[in-house]
Amino acid sequence: MPVLTPSTVDEVLTHLGEHPESLVLSGGTDVMVEINMAHRKAPDDVVALRGVEELRAWSRHPSSAGGAGTVTIGAGLPYAEMEHGELAELFPALAQAARTVGSPQIRAAGTLGGNLGTCSPAGDGLPVLYALDAVVHLRSVHGRRDVPVADFMTGVKRNVLDAGELITGVTMPIRAGWQGYSKVGVRNAMVIATVSVCLAMDRDEGAVSLALGAVGTTILRCPDAENWLAGELDLTTAHLDISDAVASEFGRRAAATAAPIDDHRSTAAYRGHAVSVLASRLLRRAAA
Ligand SMILES: Cc1cc2nc3c(=O)[nH]c(=O)nc-3n(C[C@H](O)[C@H](O)[C@H](O)COP(=O)(O)OP(=O)(O)OC[C@H]3O[C@@H](n4cnc5c(N)ncnc54)[C@H](O)[C@@H]3O)c2cc1C
Repeated sequence: MPVLTPSTVDEVLTHLGEHPESLVLSGGTDVMVEINMAHRKAPDDVVALRGVEELRAWSRHPSSAGGAGTVTIGAGLPYAEMEHGELAELFPALAQAARTVGSPQIRAAGTLGGNLGTCSPAGDGLPVLYALDAVVHLRSVHGRRDVPVADFMTGVKRNVLDAGELITGVTMPIRAGWQGYSKVGVRNAMVIATVSVCLAMDRDEGAVSLALGAVGTTILRCPDAENWLAGELDLTTAHLDISDAVASEFGRRAAATAAPIDDHRSTAAYRGHAVSVLASRLLRRAAA
C-alpha cells in the first residue's frame, strides 16, 4: 500500500483533504496490532506522522492573566519524552502515567495523539488529560477546532474526530499543587489498567480534580468527591492535613461515581474497591 511520509502538518492535511479515509499512523502501537489481529481492515493508504517535527514538539506559553501559563504537547510526542525533564516537572501526573505505558519500546513510539485516536477508557494518558482539563486541538483542510477533552471522548473507542481531521496536540494549564497518577492491573508492568486514577490539586483555585479510567464508557470526573473535599479542607495551602476519615470518605465518594463492569480483566466489585483505595491513597500522597 502507498505510505505517505510528510514532513509538515499542511502536507498531512492536504492529503487527508483529498483522501479522508487514509489511515493516520503515529507510533503504530495500537493500529498495527489491530491490523495484525484482523480487527481492522488493512487500509488503502497510510499517512505516517513520524517525520512531522511540529507534532513531536512541546511548548510553554505564558498567561496574560498572570497565572503560570499553559503547555501545548504535540500529538506525536512519544511517551518516553514525557517521563523525565522539564515536562515531567511541570506535569508529574503525566510523567507517572507515561512511565506505566507498556515497555520502553512502546513508550519510544506511542503517543498521546494515538491514545486519543483510540480512546480506550483504559488509555493511561486520558485520565491525566481529564484531570488537567486539557483542550484537544484538531485541524483539517476546512479549519481548526479546539475541543475540551471531556467533549472529545464520547464512548468506548469513540470520539468526535471527523474523517480527514488530524489531532495536532493538547493544551493544559500549569497548576500549582501536587498531582499524581496510579493504576492497578493484573501485574506490575506491561499491563492495561484495570482501574486508573489521576488526582491534581489546584492551590490557586483551592480545588482538586479527580479522574477515573477503566470504570466507565469514558473517563469519569468525580464532581461529588471534588466539591466535598473543597468544602472540608482549605485546598489553597501547601500543607494539607488529611485524616483517615477524610481520605476514606473521599475514596468512597469517588467509588460511588464509578460505573464499573465485569469483564475479562476484572469484576465490577473489585474495580469499585480499587477506585476507593487509589483515590484515598493519592489524597494521602498529596498531603505527604
Ligand atoms: C505491548 C503493548 C502495550 C501497551 N500498553 C499500554 C499501556 O500500558 N497503556 C496504554 O494507555 N496503552 C498501551 N498500549 C496501547 C498504545 O501503546 C497506546 O494507546 C498509544 O498511546 C497509542 O499511540 P500510537 O502513537 O502508537 O497510536 P497509533 O497506533 O499510531 O494510532 C492509534 C489510533 O489513533 C489514530 N491517530 C494517531 N495519531 C493521530 C493524530 N495525530 N490525529 C488523528 N488520529 C490519530 C490512528 O489513526 C489510530 O486510529 C499498548 C500497546 C501495546 C502494543
